[in-house]
Amino acid sequence: MMENIFGFSISPSSAINMDKVDRALFEELCRVEPDAVRCMACGSCSATCPAAAFSGMSIRKVLLCLQRGKEKEAFRMMSNCMLCGKCTMVCPRGINTRRLVLSISRIYGKEDTK
Ligand code: SF4
Ligand code: SF4
Repeated sequence: MMENIFGFSISPSSAINMDKVDRALFEELCRVEPDAVRCMACGSCSATCPAAAFSGMSIRKVLLCLQRGKEKEAFRMMSNCMLCGKCTMVCPRGINTRRLVLSISRIYGKEDTK
């Protein structure tokens, strides 16, 4: 094994085969909430999010996870959202992030994100 020879191991590939990702729910989300594709990943929402510091909650990452078929990871982050709405006040794109979180929960069938 490589590890035995060189003293280190190679991390498993994190490549995602997008051809195998079912994007039906994300497309439905975009239809209901066009804001889902307006995010420019600036991170302002995470910087102001009270949950981000202790849980890693990030709207930007949630959207990326959903696009890449990593729903479990997205919902792990969203379970820490308190729906306080602070992120909505700072988004430079004017995205109603709080409403977006609620729409994601509804469309992905996770009404209760806790
Ligand atoms: S609504 Fe959720 S994501 Fe937005 S700032 Fe509050 S806890 Fe963070
Ligand atoms: S503040 Fe708005 S544009 Fe910036 S990462 Fe958050 S949702 Fe996206």
